[in-house]
Amino acid sequence: MNLSILETGSYWIKNAHVPVALLPLGNWQETREGLVLVDIYIHEGLIQQVQPALSLGEGLEVNENINLNTNLNIHQEANYDLRQGMILPGFVDIHTHLDKGHIWERAVNIDGAFATAVETIQKDEVNWQPEELYRRMEFGLQCSYAHGTQALRTHLDALGSLGKQGFQVFSELKKQWLDRLTLQAVALVSLDYYLTPAGVELADLVSATGEILGGVAYPNPNLETEIDRVFTLAKERDLDLDFHVDETNDPESRCLYSIALAAIRHDFKGRITCGHCCSLAVQSPAVVAETLQVVKDAGIGIVSLPMCNMFLQDREPSRTPRWRGVTAIQELQGAGIEVAIASDNCRDPFYGFGDHDMLEVLNQGVRIAHLDNNYTKAPGMVTNTAATIIGFPDMAKIIPGAKADLVLFRGRRYSELLARSQHDRIVLRNGKPIDTSLPDYAILDDLVLK
Ligand SMILES: [Zn+2]
Repeated sequence: MNLSILETGSYWIKNAHVPVALLPLGNWQETREGLVLVDIYIHEGLIQQVQPALSLGEGLEVNENINLNTNLNIHQEANYDLRQGMILPGFVDIHTHLDKGHIWERAVNIDGAFATAVETIQKDEVNWQPEELYRRMEFGLQCSYAHGTQALRTHLDALGSLGKQGFQVFSELKKQWLDRLTLQAVALVSLDYYLTPAGVELADLVSATGEILGGVAYPNPNLETEIDRVFTLAKERDLDLDFHVDETNDPESRCLYSIALAAIRHDFKGRITCGHCCSLAVQSPAVVAETLQVVKDAGIGIVSLPMCNMFLQDREPSRTPRWRGVTAIQELQGAGIEVAIASDNCRDPFYGFGDHDMLEVLNQGVRIAHLDNNYTKAPGMVTNTAATIIGFPDMAKIIPGAKADLVLFRGRRYSELLARSQHDRIVLRNGKPIDTSLPDYAILDDLVLK
């Protein structure tokens, strides 16, 4: 495709299929899959105009019928015909672990078990020095950016001295990547940590850096006390919360339920995200219904991690898995709860693959959770719905006035989009194509090949 038109910064993208849920409200004519064929005018880095596609050949004269309120130079031959290829807004990846990433070769998960992953990471953490961490985390950001992501939230292991180091490295990266990626970080410890003075210090550190308080909730007799403590620390400091919950096939694990009850009990006004929620998929319908009701009432956003959950859940030696590992995505959505999907781990003991490619996440999410029955909500799960959950309701929509941060694909409908890798996608940031080449694996060889 000829990119020179896109370099001009002022052009029409013609004949693009866009999910209706990401367009301005209107009387759009949509396909069976909820796609609308549109023309999009980009000017000075912004989406200036989105309108139903004019049929080929009608061309520019029809533009005179639309009410452009500026002296946009629309009569130039600046038309980029996408030939019905799909466009998604820049991706929003709300659950990652940049600090753990890309260490597979030095930290292999030999049996693929969850417990082995935890153990292997703990052993690996002696290698985490500021420069080492910076380089691996930046590798993750380079992949994300090249694949078309515009905003990303990472969890940071924050036990003891890891917390200060992790947030320092993250803050430096956030500064360096300010113009390219919107970044957020969440403190990751088991929730009992917040009952200690070190936990209070961590909450202060999170507050000082303006990031997010969080951790892993494990079922235990003291769970309610731990959760209450975290909510109190967050309220005192006006922080949002993000939890890892119920990443297990144990139906007795109901931390999501406990957190939702706590949110209501504390009348919590901040945003709450809960990730994984795997056990919800193995509980009785009555238990699920009870949890969905309080999660909805508490306004909690859910993020499912389909690739990592499929990798770790239902894994036993010499036995083929029967369960896909994901939470009850469709039921959550049916209850009116906002659900995103995200990358989670990349090439570390929790997931041996991954490249921070949100199209792959969408692709795998659609397959694993059967989201192909109804595509209405699927594209939002890696774009606007995800952004809304982390506090950016206007981000990742294709509407006039929005930044022209878009990903252009050859695939014209979902079957085409999700059948190929779309590695020839065009990523526009502020209306201009970026370099989509990925970082060479070899640049981390001195860190991970020993
Ligand atoms: Zn995670």
